[in-house]
Amino acid sequence: GTFASLTVSAEEEAALDAAAALTETTLRDLDNSLSIFKPNSEISRLNRSAGTSPMQVAEQTEEVLRLSWQYADVTGGAFDPTVLPLVQFWGFNKGPPLSAVPDSAAIRSVLERVGYRHLSLTNRMAFVDREGMSVDLGGIAKGYAVDACYQALVSNGVQNFMVDLGGNIRCRGSAQPGRPWSIGVRDPFNRDRIIGAIHLAAGMAVATSGNYENFVMIGGKRYTHIMDPRTGWPVEGVASVTVIAATAVEADAMSTSVFVLGLEESKPILRRMPNCHVIFIPDEQPVRVYLFPGAREHFTADPAFDGEIIDVATE
Ligand code: ADP
Ligand code: MG
Repeated sequence: GTFASLTVSAEEEAALDAAAALTETTLRDLDNSLSIFKPNSEISRLNRSAGTSPMQVAEQTEEVLRLSWQYADVTGGAFDPTVLPLVQFWGFNKGPPLSAVPDSAAIRSVLERVGYRHLSLTNRMAFVDREGMSVDLGGIAKGYAVDACYQALVSNGVQNFMVDLGGNIRCRGSAQPGRPWSIGVRDPFNRDRIIGAIHLAAGMAVATSGNYENFVMIGGKRYTHIMDPRTGWPVEGVASVTVIAATAVEADAMSTSVFVLGLEESKPILRRMPNCHVIFIPDEQPVRVYLFPGAREHFTADPAFDGEIIDVATE
């Protein structure tokens, strides 16, 4: 349900066709295992066996599930791979549209079917122990897939490339000799503008979660596709979160997590993740751009936004 692109620097043009084929195969394989839109994917079968019996899964599927569980744990459940019932309740990912804002009793009953502690993993067997529960790796699988492409390309000797899967990006080497890969951070309030650029050093990754691309309208109000599993409501007050990290899976999971946690609650968690650098933009005007420690090292603001940049103190 998204776009992928591979860019190879001009000196390695000869490697492009093989690199593109490898990237495509890697993405297709993972999509076949992890997609909730494919009825025969391992995740779809895992969801159908919820509350019934554990299921054997492929090594990579187990690894993404394990990582998703770990991010759920470090974020105190702000990130939750079992969020699908809630996501669908609000009309996303094949859920029927809501015609009115739901009442709290309805939301509470959906929340009974959400909770990562009901997902267990042992010896390549995965199990969701309650009927009606279901897994959605939409907040982490694209990052995981980008890392898989990155590893495959590195193993095949490609030196200078950038992989982008729906805004989950990882780079190696440089765009041109002496010029690092550079990625624009979009102004969430004006798609045609960028607030600045990120320069990605050796092997680093970046991901953005925004409230502006995937949302529903209920009663004239906009609700985004990222849920707070602690309240059952779509997250409000955040326009976009960009995370620069050592791996794409971390950038993906943490961009979704920080989006849910918000500025304040993210601080103690990010303090324990020194390689995770965050650019946080609240959903308010005039636009303000909050840089967590370390982000400045990779980010250069566009001159038009210079006055709106705020350094976040986490200590
Ligand atoms: P996108 O997939 O649109 O690029 P994200 O990486 O932020 O953006 O992931 C959002 C997706 O993650 C949603 O479409 C949904 O599938 C899933 N999701 C929503 N809320 C949560 C949550 N609290 N924890 C984990 N995954 C979530
Ligand atoms: Mg994400």
